[in-house]
Amino acid sequence: MIKVENVTKQFPDKLALDDVSLEFPKNQTTAIVGPSGSGKSTLLRSLNLLERPTSGKMSIDDLNVDFQKEISNSQVLKIRKRFGMVFQEKALFTHLNVLHNLMEGPVKVKGVSKEAASKQANDLLAQFNMTELADRYPYQLSGGQQQRVAILRALAMEPEYLLLDEPTSALDPELEAQVLRVLRDLAEQNTSMIVVTHNMDFARKVASRVAFIDNGKVAYQGDTNGFFESKEDRIQKFLGAMT
Ligand code: ADP
Ligand code: MG
Repeated sequence: MIKVENVTKQFPDKLALDDVSLEFPKNQTTAIVGPSGSGKSTLLRSLNLLERPTSGKMSIDDLNVDFQKEISNSQVLKIRKRFGMVFQEKALFTHLNVLHNLMEGPVKVKGVSKEAASKQANDLLAQFNMTELADRYPYQLSGGQQQRVAILRALAMEPEYLLLDEPTSALDPELEAQVLRVLRDLAEQNTSMIVVTHNMDFARKVASRVAFIDNGKVAYQGDTNGFFESKEDRIQKFLGAMT
């Protein structure tokens, strides 16, 4: 489980995270929702230390971080290893085919043998009915296919937690559906996922928990039904604007 305690991120002229305390349980999907500019990406990037909060604490299972103290490089590496990240814009290695995109991290970072990495990559592709894409290069894939490969590439590293920042916002609706199906399957397999999303239908159906961030503050955290059935003004207003 990930625990974020009293985390603040001050950019030169914007307080992006304002005393954020949140929990992300293991084996569950948490949707982070909220208006544009509310601090969702900053929060997600803080978890794997792509962003360094100004103050506050965080624990990831047995690893503890105090943002006001120095964090050693070995600690940073230990934390990053626990996370797989999928960004809004697909970011595949353009010079490698799909199979080699999936093998690259395990072989180069984890020292897995090529044979083992290739088997694992093929297994992942088969599991998500994407075997026919194995030999293609990124430019030969649709946006939805690229994003599904990006998800599998993150999974190939066997992360404890999968972080996704608006993984479908650059996609057309039908391509978005393909990607959401993969995420739904992962959620059903109890993958620990934290997904920033604007898709309320997806959040409602797939996430077991919702964290609603408004202007850098946590305005709701708890179970999904509680969020969508909330009578609270701020939540109603947000949900009203999203549909
Ligand atoms: P969201 O993902 O919810 O749209 P962000 O976390 O990207 O919001 O941004 C939260 C606020 O912090 C915004 O006002 C944004 O302009 C500001 N911000 C984000 N990143 C930076 C940065 N690197 N430097 C300065 N301000 C930033
Ligand atoms: Mg964002």
